[in-house]
Amino acid sequence: MALRFAGSLLSGKIVPGAILSDSTRLHYRCNGSDVVVSTENGILFLHFVDSFLSRSGITSSVGFASRDGGPYKLDIAYGLLMLLSLENMMVALVLYAAGCKSHDQGSSLKPHVTGNLIHDWWFGIQLNPQFMGVDLKFFFVRAGMLGWLLINLSVLAKNIQEGSFSRSMVLYQLFCVFYILDYFFYEEYMTTTWDIIAERLGFMLVFGDLVWIPFTFSIQAYSSSGAEKPYSYLSVKRFFSVGNPLAGIREGWWLLRNKVELTTAAAIANCLIFMIGYKVFRGANKQKHVFKKSPKAPIWGKPPKVIGGKLLASGYWGVARHCNYLGDLLLALSFSLPCGASSPVPYFYPIYLLILLIWRERRDEARCAEKYKEVWAEYCKLVPWRILPYVY
Ligand code: NDP
Repeated sequence: MALRFAGSLLSGKIVPGAILSDSTRLHYRCNGSDVVVSTENGILFLHFVDSFLSRSGITSSVGFASRDGGPYKLDIAYGLLMLLSLENMMVALVLYAAGCKSHDQGSSLKPHVTGNLIHDWWFGIQLNPQFMGVDLKFFFVRAGMLGWLLINLSVLAKNIQEGSFSRSMVLYQLFCVFYILDYFFYEEYMTTTWDIIAERLGFMLVFGDLVWIPFTFSIQAYSSSGAEKPYSYLSVKRFFSVGNPLAGIREGWWLLRNKVELTTAAAIANCLIFMIGYKVFRGANKQKHVFKKSPKAPIWGKPPKVIGGKLLASGYWGVARHCNYLGDLLLALSFSLPCGASSPVPYFYPIYLLILLIWRERRDEARCAEKYKEVWAEYCKLVPWRILPYVY
């Protein structure tokens, strides 16, 4: 609710979205950085009010002043995860039902019903559904990124409370907070991404935004129980156990329960990977965004190389056809490296992202080949690498 109100009430730059197949375009209010700051401040304010009331004996501490001793509650994460998963299934059903009823023939709302209920529920049937004037896709990503930030801050609050601050925790927190705030700061670059221009809104995207992002991107925090050897086979098995695949969440948080001694050299190498990843990720996404808005704007100080008047083939887009994925993968790796190398569990996020981005690159390739035809073939000839030059 807070996000919804902050997003609507705060002013922000109105950014035109990509031109849709019927030549219309949506407009997005990009006020993400103000929204995240005001929502965070609101949560902190509620926490202090709740702490004050409970200390004065006016209320019992059932609200924000949890036994974590911080404004962010880890204790309820498991229940919250369950609740959100169920809620997402319902939201996707509502989206499907509302989409089926729509008679709008515009590209953003035209329902694409295949008749296969599971398929349509999973992938969605409308491109850009809205609710009370709010673009739902844009809103869900915001909520997911904010949720990830809140989980990380919860871990931090608990870590400070337990007095076991480590170099690994500092690096993990700094990298993630930077990445999340950067997302909100450059929110307008989202308007030209695959999710916004090509993916319909169904369970896959809703679950991805509201559950997958906050709960798995912070997986470096999941731990085995204190008695168990960290990163042991048992802890991996327990994490993925059929009976209770989420056992790790209740048992604590990875970097809280497992101390990793990171050498100075390892920490510096970790920072370098983060910085290179960020430069490539942000640089590539920015170049594409700028190119879409002003096709003649210089790239790396030179006039851009353009194929068929449509595709950028210089800068990062002349190095590999999805250099932005490479940057994101390096960033994901840098979020896990602070956890050391003794277990695969904290590497869940980069491994998942590698699989996702390879799959996505293939889907995007097929879409672009169909859309741009011989122009795309020429681009592929000029830039043969998909993600990593000389490797893939
Ligand atoms: P892109 O931002 O790469 O968008 C792909 C689209 O860009 C294409 O469909 C095409 O659209 C256009 N395009 C492709 N090549 C060119 C070119 N050479 N010149 C001009 N336009 C081109 O894809 P994503 O939305 O998948 O990724 C955006 C970012 O989000 C990436 O950095 C990615 O790593 C990140 N991401 C992160 C995820 C996570 O879980 N952490 C998940 C998914 C993405 P058009 O028809 O408009 O030309």
